[in-house]
Amino acid sequence: MSDIREREIYDSWDLNIPQLPNRSILFHLEPMGMNTSHVESLTGYMIRLAEAHCVPLTKLYRKVIYPYINKKYLILNATVFFEKCRTANGLGVAATDLVYALSMLTKRDDLSNLTLINWNNFIPWNGLLRDYRVWCPLCFQELSDNGQTIYEQLIWKFKSIELCSIHQTRLVSECHFCKSSSQAVISTKSRVGYCSKCGAWLGQDNDFYEADPITEEEMLWHKWVTDNVGSLFKQLPPPHIVGQEGYAAKFIKQVVDERLKGSMNEFSYLHGVESKSISNWYYGRVTPSLDALLKIGFVYEVPLLEIFNQNVTLKYISKKHINTKITPYSQKWVFKEIEEEKIISYLEQVLSIDTPPFPSMVEVSQNIGISAKRLRYRFPNLCKQISENYMKELHRQKKENDENNLKQVRHITIELHEKGIYPHFRTVRDVNPKMFWTPNSYSVWRNTMIELGLRK
Ligand SMILES: [Zn+2]
Ligand SMILES: [Zn+2]
Repeated sequence: MSDIREREIYDSWDLNIPQLPNRSILFHLEPMGMNTSHVESLTGYMIRLAEAHCVPLTKLYRKVIYPYINKKYLILNATVFFEKCRTANGLGVAATDLVYALSMLTKRDDLSNLTLINWNNFIPWNGLLRDYRVWCPLCFQELSDNGQTIYEQLIWKFKSIELCSIHQTRLVSECHFCKSSSQAVISTKSRVGYCSKCGAWLGQDNDFYEADPITEEEMLWHKWVTDNVGSLFKQLPPPHIVGQEGYAAKFIKQVVDERLKGSMNEFSYLHGVESKSISNWYYGRVTPSLDALLKIGFVYEVPLLEIFNQNVTLKYISKKHINTKITPYSQKWVFKEIEEEKIISYLEQVLSIDTPPFPSMVEVSQNIGISAKRLRYRFPNLCKQISENYMKELHRQKKENDENNLKQVRHITIELHEKGIYPHFRTVRDVNPKMFWTPNSYSVWRNTMIELGLRK
């Protein structure tokens, strides 16, 4: 027996259950490119989340995300939700809702940086985001070749951005394989880096990717846009500047008064904007789009942040910049967000009708007071479903009518025969002139005649 003092003393076990932080429902997936101009987009992040959990995007929405978006205007239909998500990379309600839901689910507090909601008070929402998906094939390919995570950049979602600032090439919207363009920003078939129509890989090498050459002047402009838009992703609005309605008017006024001797016509000529728009901007009735602010800023070398900060120093116009015309922003196809929500909610109500009669798009558009063409342009998926329901019902009715017609033909033929009248097909037809006479009606009549022994 050894002496107890010589025995080795082992560590004792702590049997208390350690305090674990609360688990998140979804992975705490890290967004890519955080605090750079190349930060990931929120919709792209959501697609990656679905992939990380090996579940279809639709299922992720219906089973997991939907309960966290407590909004009456949304139904469990993923297509409807994805339509709404077109604006989720910007600064409206869709962005706020989706950031909230995904933050709760992943326990991340940085997802607002994948949108522009932090700049909500500054940036006009009009004409801000693209309706369709664009990408840089070289970016996708490079990430893949380097074994890095493939993701979709937030900056690609902005209408003003046309070039990839990393590769200085044009962004593309057409799949090089199936040639389909106008792909939805997010859809049930979305996969980061792949065509949502044919599923082809969208990355391409420099050797295969052919794009129109970019002029030096174009490059200068695009560098300006990318730097300015990108600067919004790298920081939050400085706390001392509070978004005010007046910042844009103040800027426009300064340009017109200081540089153009107060002449709105001169401004109109230089920037290619209708004089009515300028007076609206000048008097603060309308805020210019982000694109317009960028273009005017470019001409006088005033970065966006200076405009927001209301601390503008105007440079003199340099000749090479004078061609920067502002693309007229078409008011025709745009709805205010609040209006858009009401329309979506109405269209969803129409879709939730489960017994006929189903209204046609013409009726729906008359009820809303907006043309069917405009509704189809803005809400293609919802309108398609409404039309499909209507057409299905129309076909069902036609089939039912046809069957009733045929039954009537047979019934009338037998009835006439029983009354002792020879049921010639003209006689049968004349009994009910409203009856629709088709080739099928004729063969039903003939078969009935054979049955009655009146024909062979
Ligand atoms: Zn690129
Ligand atoms: Zn394709």
